[in-house]
Amino acid sequence: MIIDVHTHINNYHEERVASLEECLDRMTEAMKENKVDYALVLTSYKVNEHRPSTKAVVEAIAGRKNLGVVAGISYLKYDHKDLREIGDHLAAGLIKGLKLYPGYEPFYPNDTRMRVIYEMATEFDVPVMFHSGDTYAPTGRIKYSHPIHIDDVAVDHPDMKIVICHVGNPWIKDCMEVVYKNKNVYADFSGLVLGDFSDKFERYMKSQLEEMITYAGNPRYLLYGTDWPISNMGSYLKFIQQLDLPEDRKEMILWRNAAALFKIDVGSL
Ligand SMILES: [Zn+2]
Repeated sequence: MIIDVHTHINNYHEERVASLEECLDRMTEAMKENKVDYALVLTSYKVNEHRPSTKAVVEAIAGRKNLGVVAGISYLKYDHKDLREIGDHLAAGLIKGLKLYPGYEPFYPNDTRMRVIYEMATEFDVPVMFHSGDTYAPTGRIKYSHPIHIDDVAVDHPDMKIVICHVGNPWIKDCMEVVYKNKNVYADFSGLVLGDFSDKFERYMKSQLEEMITYAGNPRYLLYGTDWPISNMGSYLKFIQQLDLPEDRKEMILWRNAAALFKIDVGSL
C-alpha cells in the first residue's frame, strides 16, 4: 500500500492551458505506473487558469475514490466566503486537510489572522499542512517558511495536527526538533528534488532522514509525499526503499501514518 500525501494538479507548463480532467488523468496514470494507491491533491493559494480552485477540484475528483483534496488557503486573500466554503467542505467530509503557504505569502504561522483557520481544523480534526523551507520561486521570503515557527502554533494548538512539508528542507535539523518535541506535529519529505534524485543528493538526503529518525525516534510522524509533478514518483519510491529501516517502519511512512492522520479508508481502495 502506498499513500502520497503531497501532490499538485497545477499546470507548471504555463505556455499551454491544460484542463483539470487532463491533469487528473495524467496523475492517475503516474499513480498506476508506480502502484500508488491513494494521493492527496493540494490546491494552491492562487486560483487562475493554471491553478484550479478547491471547489473545482472537489467536484472533479468526486468519482475518483483514490484521490483526496487538501484545501490551499491564501493568507492575503481569504475572505468570509472562503471561510464559509471551507467550513461547508469540512462539514461534508469533502476535504482531508488545509494547506498554508508561508514563504510564498508573507506571514508567520502564528499570525493571529490564521487563528480562525486553526479553530476550524481543530474542530473538524483535519491536519493543517504548512509549506516549509526553500521556496521554488525566488520571489518567496524564506524567513517566513523556517520550520522553527511551527513550534509556536503547535504549542498554542495542542489538539490541532500539523504537517511540516518538505521536512523544512534545508532546515531539517530544526524540523527534527519540532516533530520530536510536539506530539501533534508530522512532516512529509516531498519536493526534495526537481524531477529525479542525483546519486550524490540522494545519499545526502538519505543520511539526513536517517539522522532525523535516530534523533526523533520511531517515525510515527514521517509521511511519504512526492510533490508530483515537481518530483518524480518513481525516483521517490526508489529513494524510500534505500532508507536503512526495517520494513514495518517503511510501511508506517509509506501509508500507515497517513491513513490514520488523514482518516483514509484504506479498506475501500
Ligand atoms: Zn507542494
